[in-house]
Amino acid sequence: MNTFKHYFLVPAMLLAGALQSVFAHSCDMETYHCPLDGTEVLFCVTKSMYTEGRQKDMQLYGAIGTYYEELVNSCPTCYFSGYVEDFEKEYTETEKAALRAYLKANAGKPEDEADEYAIHAGIKEFYNDPPQEIADNWLTASYFLKGVKEQQEKRRAMQLKAACFFEQAVSENSCTEPQYCAIYKYLVAEMYRRTDFFEDALVWYEKAKKDSELPEWVRKMNTEQQQLAQNNDDSNDV
Ligand SMILES: [Zn+2]
Repeated sequence: MNTFKHYFLVPAMLLAGALQSVFAHSCDMETYHCPLDGTEVLFCVTKSMYTEGRQKDMQLYGAIGTYYEELVNSCPTCYFSGYVEDFEKEYTETEKAALRAYLKANAGKPEDEADEYAIHAGIKEFYNDPPQEIADNWLTASYFLKGVKEQQEKRRAMQLKAACFFEQAVSENSCTEPQYCAIYKYLVAEMYRRTDFFEDALVWYEKAKKDSELPEWVRKMNTEQQQLAQNNDDSNDV
């Protein structure tokens, strides 16, 4: 069914060339149930897609259709939000009670996809999940607000959250592959640049540059984006 994990494994798939033979996005509708109250939640589970590359914040583009939209969904009753595997997981009664209380206090009705990811990121923070997984959710949430003029403050707040958690992953060395830590260094830099913390950004572009694990395609981006930071350019639509 859902055979790949999402947290930053897509770059691994790209590196392995695993997606090259597929030329369109397709997904199958599947019904899941909210683990807290049993409400039906529909997921269109991605079966195939064709990616042409990544924008400077690692957002995939190409024939990816509703890939990001369909990865995380929310229960319309209690707003529990997550990936298919979060809906499939078994929760103990104690865990359910804690989650219900958390959602009641912290989650409002999601207005858009960014909100669904934000609720999921919040749940992951509540569980103290690995920082790179939390960061990846905040980063993906921010993709939905790209170019949405009136939501730029919210987008930057999400990007700052992503920066902090990617930074934590690097400092705790909790990356599942050394290459990911190198990519996270670039992302920390890029998120700081976009949120006007140019000095911090420049420190992190240097850290990424010095990391021998940084893949060539990210190294190229790192050099280009470092140049923007040197010019105090906080362009956020790239
Ligand atoms: Zn629910």
